[in-house]
Amino acid sequence: MVEIKEALEIIRSQSVQLDSEVVSLKDSLDRVLAEDLKAGFDLPGFDNSAMDGYALGGLQQEYKIVGEVAAGDSKEFIVKKGEAVRIFTGAKVPEGSSAVIMQEKTEVKENLLILKELPKEGQCIRKKGEELNKDELVFSKSYQITAAGIGMLGSLGLHKIKVFKKPIIQLITTGNELVAPGESLQAGQIYESNSGAIEAALKSKGFSSSASIQMEDDFELIKTGISQALENTEVLILSGGISVGDYDFVKQALEENGVEELFYKVKQKPGKPLYFGRKGNQFVFALPGNPASSLSCFYIYVLPLLQKLSGLPGKGLLELNLPVSKDFENKGDRPVFLKANIGNNLVEILNAQGSSMIGSMAKGNALAYVEAFKKIEKGSLIKTFLIS
Ligand code: AMP
Ligand code: MG
Repeated sequence: MVEIKEALEIIRSQSVQLDSEVVSLKDSLDRVLAEDLKAGFDLPGFDNSAMDGYALGGLQQEYKIVGEVAAGDSKEFIVKKGEAVRIFTGAKVPEGSSAVIMQEKTEVKENLLILKELPKEGQCIRKKGEELNKDELVFSKSYQITAAGIGMLGSLGLHKIKVFKKPIIQLITTGNELVAPGESLQAGQIYESNSGAIEAALKSKGFSSSASIQMEDDFELIKTGISQALENTEVLILSGGISVGDYDFVKQALEENGVEELFYKVKQKPGKPLYFGRKGNQFVFALPGNPASSLSCFYIYVLPLLQKLSGLPGKGLLELNLPVSKDFENKGDRPVFLKANIGNNLVEILNAQGSSMIGSMAKGNALAYVEAFKKIEKGSLIKTFLIS
């Protein structure tokens, strides 16, 4: 049995091989850059107007209007002192312009432009290279692309982006008692709900599983199932059958498939019988079958590895320290991850904490952490991990 901290260190210390691929910019949201990206040209590429107004030659009260330039126009103007050019937002500022004045601050009498106030030198001109210079670093390798990031890369004309590949993930759920939702239940059976929850959790964090199969508690079947899954997977996630019951065959089946155990059992509640192993560059998590345990273990342990495998630092869920809304005492000898809800900057620890109970987790958005034998008082800070 390992402590939570040790388990996380083991996961984070895995050296992993990262492959890259080229994707189109529009499909690059949340992907992680596999190379430093530098600007191919100055941004903006030319001095342009920040306003609809007039480009001014020199700074004075009155000007002669000599022409017009709109966004996208390529004609080359030169303004001389005392001349003004009608200009629109984004249009190329004519050479010789001292400033642009917004139209609201002007009056026009036929060909004469009269300023209501004098602008400062350079006012309302977005200078060439003001945001980025050619060859300047735009984003470093390992930057995770956001919507604004797509906007930025688009403004640099990029449409193909080199990103790290995402890991190939497969899911195996085990249990004789499990029946797929939609089918009818016989006595003693329950619905299989972990695969749906884990697939959704994967999706919400930008991953997906390439296959999900349900297996009976049969040693040979599970052993073969694992062997087949390992033919084409980078991360295999199993659920159930990893405890110490007579029908828990997963651990032995992994051993017989040549998977090396990196840890088994974590001093925590829920999720004590968590297993993590490796075979070459393939990783295996066996999550305890109880629905809330399996999903909590996914967020706390599987997610950081998936992040590492996709080129991120692997920090897992966002950690926050926020005041708790009520007193709470962990009377047990294991640290706990509690189903919780963050709202109004307060952490509410939810009712129904049983490891089989997923309903309370469904109503919350976080997992709160409390050490063994620790009492925390209302208003004191509690370590909380934000799920969504
Ligand atoms: P196990 O880890 O296989 O001992 O399972 C622990 C508990 O979780 C048992 O009550 C199982 O019926 C339940 N369980 C296991 N796998 C699933 C699953 N995929 N969906 C829903 N409940 C499950
Ligand atoms: Mg089972």
